[in-house]
Amino acid sequence: MNETVTNWAGNITYAAKELHRPRSLAALRALVADSDRVRVLGSGHSFNRIAEPGTEGVLLSLAALPPEVEVDTAARTVRVGGGVRYAELARRVHGHGLALPNMASLPHISVAGSVATGTHGSGVLNGPLSAPVREVELVTADGSVVTIGRDEERFGGAVTSLGALGVVTALTLDLEPAYEVEQHVFTELPFRGMDAGTFETVMATGHSVSLFTDWREPGFRQVWLKRRTDQPLPAFPWAVPAAEKMHPVPGMPAVNCTEQFGTPGPWHQRLPHFRAEFTPSSGTELQSEYLMPRGHAVEMLHALDAIREAVAPVLQTCEVRTVAGDDQWLSPSHGRDTVAVHFTWVADTPAVLPVVRRVEEALAPFGARPHWGKVFTVAASVLGGLYPRMADFRALARELDPRGTFANAFVREVLAGD
Ligand SMILES: Cc1cc2nc3c(=O)[nH]c(=O)nc-3n(C[C@H](O)[C@H](O)[C@H](O)COP(=O)(O)OP(=O)(O)OC[C@H]3O[C@@H](n4cnc5c(N)ncnc54)[C@H](O)[C@@H]3O)c2cc1C
Repeated sequence: MNETVTNWAGNITYAAKELHRPRSLAALRALVADSDRVRVLGSGHSFNRIAEPGTEGVLLSLAALPPEVEVDTAARTVRVGGGVRYAELARRVHGHGLALPNMASLPHISVAGSVATGTHGSGVLNGPLSAPVREVELVTADGSVVTIGRDEERFGGAVTSLGALGVVTALTLDLEPAYEVEQHVFTELPFRGMDAGTFETVMATGHSVSLFTDWREPGFRQVWLKRRTDQPLPAFPWAVPAAEKMHPVPGMPAVNCTEQFGTPGPWHQRLPHFRAEFTPSSGTELQSEYLMPRGHAVEMLHALDAIREAVAPVLQTCEVRTVAGDDQWLSPSHGRDTVAVHFTWVADTPAVLPVVRRVEEALAPFGARPHWGKVFTVAASVLGGLYPRMADFRALARELDPRGTFANAFVREVLAGD
């Protein structure tokens, strides 16, 4: 490949034979039909080699395709092209007086790439970002277009698919009427002594609640509560309101973050932590995340507290969120109401990896499933046991991609392990 292509974080340089940016669906279909190995690159916000085709494969970017966003106001749905990012989708949907149920911490990521990896925001009643998807359109290895709808059994594998089934050229999502959100930030929430009931109550105080800690001290430095203005204003007696605008990474400029202090605003300008026109997060980092049954939340926090002296030196911030259980076979929140613990590490792979292993050892007893798009070392043999529908996903991959055109090293390992 003549061009050097890296992920957003810069820790991965993708190995590929060629990079292609087709300009039309017809060109994309012909290219796929002519290629033995293909992987699609979304917006490149994953931290591992999930999108890498390998030296014999084609890396396919959809960035030059027309950025399709077709809103059907009567049906309250939107059809969104495979390369479109949430910032553009949300702006267009809001323009029609409609909304998505939730967003991740940033709007910079592509919709197809996000739902492929089980990306999520927070909220005890909010599923992952794949939850509103009702139909997937794929170009499979022979160049055919296959549409899979929510009423089909195989839909369970079709959305959170790790890019292993084909090129997602469009997704159709359910929408709801637009709503407003206020964001309130609190500081210094103690967690030693917090019981499971209090954890549940805190996490249910708003549409989306995130807790941040740096593990230097036990306790949460910040709580971000996003309340829909059509829902009651909760009391929050556990922590004090922030006196100034905050960034979740200590020392980073709060101007990058969405509006706080309870100022109401449109859903898409409050649900992400970071504003579309600024660098999200710290910008110099690695990330890991693990998703566990929510009933283990307090025990899980104590297990991390016990190793905080190992974690804190390589950590920028740690975020605790909730995700409602969903039906996608490979979704990390599949079949269980979930607590998710996220780590924004320093950008130093050799220093971070041993700590990632320590965290994984500490969280293994809770059945922790790693985020597919972040740094993890959990063995494929363990992953197989964490997903009760893994065999169904393998069968679907064989059905739609019998020659393994879309199976890179990452996917082959995941699908082989048991
Ligand atoms: C700063 C930052 C903040 C983040 N915050 C969150 C968060 O709040 N919550 C969370 O859960 N995650 C978060 N993530 C992780 C991120 O959401 C995931 O890595 C997600 O996959 C990114 O989407 P992408 O388009 O960049 O994917 P890529 O990394 O480009 O690709 C991911 C996978 O999707 C496949 N893919 C992409 N597009 C297509 C397509 N059209 N057809 C078929 N396959 C496709 C790729 O082949 C690959 O397998 C964050 C990442 C960053 C860098």
